[in-house]
Amino acid sequence: MSQNTALSNQTKRWQEMDAAHHLHPFTTHKDLATKGARVITHAEGVYLYDSEGKRMLDGMAGLWCVQVGYGREELAQAGYKALKELSYYNNFFQTTNQYAAELSDKLAEVCPKGIDRFFFANSGSEGNDSAVKIIRYYWNLMGKPDKKTIIARKKSYHGVTLAAASLSGLTHLHPQADLPLPGFVHVECPDWFAEGGDMTPEEYGLKAAHSLEEKILELGADNVAAFVAEPVQGAGGLIIPPKGYWEEIQRICRKYDVLLHIDEVICGFGRTGQWFGSDTFGIEPDMINMAKGLSSGYQPLAAVGLGKRVGDVIFNSDEEWSHGFTYSGHPVACAVALANLEVIQKEKLVEKAGGATGAYFQKKLAELADHPLVGETRGVGLLGAIELVKDRKTRAKFDSATDAGTRCRNHCFSNGLVMRAIGDTMVLSPPLTITESEMDNLFGLARHCLDLTASEIGVV
Ligand code: PMP
Repeated sequence: MSQNTALSNQTKRWQEMDAAHHLHPFTTHKDLATKGARVITHAEGVYLYDSEGKRMLDGMAGLWCVQVGYGREELAQAGYKALKELSYYNNFFQTTNQYAAELSDKLAEVCPKGIDRFFFANSGSEGNDSAVKIIRYYWNLMGKPDKKTIIARKKSYHGVTLAAASLSGLTHLHPQADLPLPGFVHVECPDWFAEGGDMTPEEYGLKAAHSLEEKILELGADNVAAFVAEPVQGAGGLIIPPKGYWEEIQRICRKYDVLLHIDEVICGFGRTGQWFGSDTFGIEPDMINMAKGLSSGYQPLAAVGLGKRVGDVIFNSDEEWSHGFTYSGHPVACAVALANLEVIQKEKLVEKAGGATGAYFQKKLAELADHPLVGETRGVGLLGAIELVKDRKTRAKFDSATDAGTRCRNHCFSNGLVMRAIGDTMVLSPPLTITESEMDNLFGLARHCLDLTASEIGVV
């Protein structure tokens, strides 16, 4: 048997087991069963390898999370050491472990100003569900039990657990589970490319911000607990707010005494060129949620960070806080996160994302704007989006049957590049460790796949 055949048989066996027994996230199973899942077996640096030995440049850092690149010895060693030393113990009932304590201290150093107390969870969704409970508890402790409605934005993504999915404004997440829950409402987001018409991005940003004020006035400020938002909306199509948007949002939150909870799950840990998206966009949050880049995805870990306003009230309460996960502050996850943050600091990955690496990435991204299929490129730090359009002048979209985004993504996979399609918006978010020559490779492949997509759908 040739080696190739042997590999194919093994792949087939994994695909069969998988098709029979594995319920995948965000997957149409009927469709998958006819194709067989792609089996990713290992990864190194910015490259993924599948079970057939095919190499792919991961332009998405997994799901926007592998800040330090794959296969880092430092993180593996830190996990091994913690597994041997303290494989598990919980942080309930006045107990901690050395790694959770040290990670809290480290986060207080790097987080946006004033955020200095942390609750640990295992995923971004759990973090946001926990944040919702913290917000409700805060207003109960403050003697304002009516201040409970949470306002989030259309096209936002905050996770899939019941509260996180209710926060999310991507409406396709709702009907299968009869969501959103009561008490969650959504306002406009600054998606100028799709919705801005003839307005300038700044004018549209202000219009979107004012929809928050209108909603608060409609509900009554005494009933509104918090506004929840990502600095840059990720899964909603990489929506980057224009100048003036965040200033106006913060003015409104202050005016009506509405807490500002910022979801940093994608934007945190250097992604936008500073430690947090809040730093990049001049946001002063009351609380934040972080995950992904916190551990570079090497371990499941999230944290909700509290500023003084909320933190002081909860830390000074006489009653027990009735919330926490078996794995909150898991020693191995926290040890790996500490090693991850050490790599980020030692290798100056945040400075590079905000400096030379980010600048080169944005320059290469902007060069794609001349392509006949491309209506706009936009980005910040090591985030980038490429809008595929039918008409570059009017920004008119293809009809959904054309499925330009999926076609382009499929060409990318076939040609060794992972680029995500959100509708017809192609999105990039590579590891912060990516080198210039790897970026040359990435953008060369991206242009080639845009060419293939254009000729397939007849755009010249
Ligand atoms: N918030 C944001 C902004 C996200 O992008 C995500 C995941 N993409 C989440 C929350 C949910 O995180 P998780 O998938 O770890 O639950």
